[in-house]
Amino acid sequence: MVSGVLSESIIGRAQTAGVIGVECHNIRDFSTDKHRKTDDTPYGGGMGMVMTCQPIYDCYRHVRDRIPEGESVRVVYMSPKGALFNHTTALRLSEYDNLIILCGHYEGVDQRVLDEIVDEDISIGDYVLTGGEIPACIVVDAVSRLIPGVLPDEICYTDESVASGILEYPQYTKPRVFLGREVPEVLLSGDHKKIERYRLECAVNLTRERRPDLLLLHPEYEEALLPKKKRSKRAHKDSSQCENTSLSAEPQQTVCNTDAQGDVEAE
Ligand code: SAH
Repeated sequence: MVSGVLSESIIGRAQTAGVIGVECHNIRDFSTDKHRKTDDTPYGGGMGMVMTCQPIYDCYRHVRDRIPEGESVRVVYMSPKGALFNHTTALRLSEYDNLIILCGHYEGVDQRVLDEIVDEDISIGDYVLTGGEIPACIVVDAVSRLIPGVLPDEICYTDESVASGILEYPQYTKPRVFLGREVPEVLLSGDHKKIERYRLECAVNLTRERRPDLLLLHPEYEEALLPKKKRSKRAHKDSSQCENTSLSAEPQQTVCNTDAQGDVEAE
């Protein structure tokens, strides 16, 4: 499942180019049980099966022992009990030379092997999946695109939703009119200052509507839209700003194009 997903598209090409390497290991291959068992019933009773220590530990040793001395390693267990995964975590993990990601299955994994080998638990959201493979793919994808050389340019991963601190402005490409919907005029103007301002307004409006929490963390974006003399006074205003300015019941259509032109002129 994992090697299939990660051999596609950008992450696949980055592997072929040798920028990153992804290895998948089947824990069952390390089981010393004659039926290659990897799970057993829980001590204390209860539903389902628990993954046993031995195959996981031996698989881990196999992987760990081949990492060259001096290289940094972080061992992550994908788990709904973990800290919620976000861009900051992806950035932090991208600093390691090696990540070992353990995927659980069934009811989970015997706690003793987790205590022995895992540095941190990571959850991809407040829901429970059947296995850690999809969460692991998400972590590998998000971390990999932060590794220099995976995307064509650093701007690809800094100027973007959440990575920049707020949500990204909407994107448009050809044709100029699609089903009667026109590309916003300002994007065709060739005036880079106007375009930058328009995009910032779109990004701030969209974030105010959908993720006001992000704007509170990054007042600098709203501040940049204010006339220069008002900037520092308004920068630290509270969330009341966000509540009063929700734009429309149809956010996709109206978040940006209402007064954008007028505001560009005002600046
Ligand atoms: N009984 C466990 C859930 C087991 S789900 C509990 O209540 O905590 C089986 C496996 O799927 C887990 O071991 C984990 O590796 C993976 N998994 C399920 N949901 C996940 C999530 N939200 N984030 C990361 N991994 C998850």
